Amino acid sequence: MSGESVKVAVRVRPFNQRELDRQSKLVIKMDGQMTMIYNPEAPNDEPKKFSFDYSYWSHDGFIAKEEGITEPKPGSNYASQRIVFDNLGQGVLNNAFEGYNCSLFAYGQTGSGKSYSMVGYGANKGIVPITCDELFKTMGTNEDPNKRYEVMFSMLEIYNENVRDLLSKDNPKGGLNVRQNPKLGMFYVEGLKKVPVGSYAEIEKRMEQGTQQRTVASTNMNATSSRAHTVVTIIFDQIIKSENGETKKSSVMNLVDLAGSERADSTGATGDRLKEGANINKSLSALGNVISALADLSMGKKKIVVPYRDSVLTKLLQNALGGNSKTIMIAALSPADINYDETLSTLRYADRAKKIQNKAVINENPLD
Ligand code: ADP
Ligand code: MG
Repeated sequence: MSGESVKVAVRVRPFNQRELDRQSKLVIKMDGQMTMIYNPEAPNDEPKKFSFDYSYWSHDGFIAKEEGITEPKPGSNYASQRIVFDNLGQGVLNNAFEGYNCSLFAYGQTGSGKSYSMVGYGANKGIVPITCDELFKTMGTNEDPNKRYEVMFSMLEIYNENVRDLLSKDNPKGGLNVRQNPKLGMFYVEGLKKVPVGSYAEIEKRMEQGTQQRTVASTNMNATSSRAHTVVTIIFDQIIKSENGETKKSSVMNLVDLAGSERADSTGATGDRLKEGANINKSLSALGNVISALADLSMGKKKIVVPYRDSVLTKLLQNALGGNSKTIMIAALSPADINYDETLSTLRYADRAKKIQNKAVINENPLD
């Protein structure tokens, strides 16, 4: 068992209509793994530089191919959904088959491209659907009669620090309880539905069902922005028969589309929306504190208590952050000068996440 850092990717999207209307200037540049950001108030200053495992340029240089799939123009360095899957999703898949837990989460302000990367829109499917599709395709190639698979799916959202089961029509007021397993110490959501799925099509159907149950509120930033964290969990079990009985390799994949990271005031939220903002920021700032504590730990600082218990999000992501999981964070960036402050803060957040060390182990146990 050895430590391994969280892998961090950043991705910059095209200008949106609002940015085009305001004749926004591009403040992001990428060069290999480097991402640079220019301060629009001091355009002659050196840019701030960051280095990540992957820096994805999806700002320009693309064409819409048949069925609307965006692909690089010949000679451009545009990063398509497929490229992002090949770099990040394929690794998740390989790890799942080896029996590791995997986590993938998307961070960034509302409208920066989190859902585009995670779930995708229309023909431009994101990492989650492609990974699920490939999971079943790979399972289909199994010719070993002593091996069988079981896949379970669940989907929840954290909204105002309450957990709602997105596969259930009647959630209790105040949400489901988050409890701690007394033996293993891990947190779990009591009574969360886990449904068996036998094909990619079934997962797709369940994701649609879950998406319709989501709490959606509008802010000035984005009319249909979600103010909640959405967590899709896929439990992938491989049951292997041998002379000595059956063993089970189990991998939990957590795929997390975080709520917008913007401060409540920058979205013009008021009243109830503002209260929600404060709660969302509670979960996100707890996430930030956990990341900072873990970064300090990995730098050799002693006597650090990692404040997992400070929010629902960090309780449920405990394994993903400094625990038994291979973890990837994808930070979504707006290209525009008008979002400079938020984008810089996203880059700093992502930079800290790089320092987290996880200790993933293969989950393989005899079946009793
Ligand atoms: P978020 O989930 O962070 O609020 P979205 O993923 O919904 O943001 O993205 C906002 C808009 O930007 C959407 O219309 C989406 O299609 C577009 N967009 C985001 N990322 C990309 C990208 N990499 N390439 C093309 N369009 C993108
Ligand atoms: Mg979104």
